[in-house]
Amino acid sequence: MEEYIKCFGCGSNSLNIEGETHDYLLSSPGCWIMFCEVMDREYSDFTYAKAHHFTVDAYTSQHVGIKDDKRAINSINIHLASLYMIFERDLHVADAASFKMNFSQYFKGSELLKWLEPPATFGELTIYELWDNNKPELHYNLAEKWAKSVWESWKHQHDHIGKLVNDFLNNQ
Ligand SMILES: [Zn+2]
Repeated sequence: MEEYIKCFGCGSNSLNIEGETHDYLLSSPGCWIMFCEVMDREYSDFTYAKAHHFTVDAYTSQHVGIKDDKRAINSINIHLASLYMIFERDLHVADAASFKMNFSQYFKGSELLKWLEPPATFGELTIYELWDNNKPELHYNLAEKWAKSVWESWKHQHDHIGKLVNDFLNNQ
């Protein structure tokens, strides 16, 4: 049996195992397990923790789920908005949590967050590179690089996300 298979969500090398996956961030079980293991590192060690929102936003933006699931639609809009703020508006990654909370509150129940047609591919990096890295001191830069490449892969939606964020910011 192959050790790795391709995740149908993000295209990552993912462990070839059975198991549970997230409800709407659809992925292969191995990809989800690798994400959960990286989360464990980020929750237990400050060297890893600093990169947390790069990891969450990048992973979420590579697993878009299905078109008629409102949770998936909200998720992709919120996490792309966070990447927009970080890479286009110089938001510090440590402030991404409060941004996402306020942004999602603002659009709650509004129907303004729509399904976003994803790109054909999501960039060169995936959860695999982060999961496979055993040097804590490289984790932050690797996560940032991954998040940036995912954001670039969504180029065709940059203007749209920028407009949503400006709508939010102008009404604060
Ligand atoms: Zn995946």
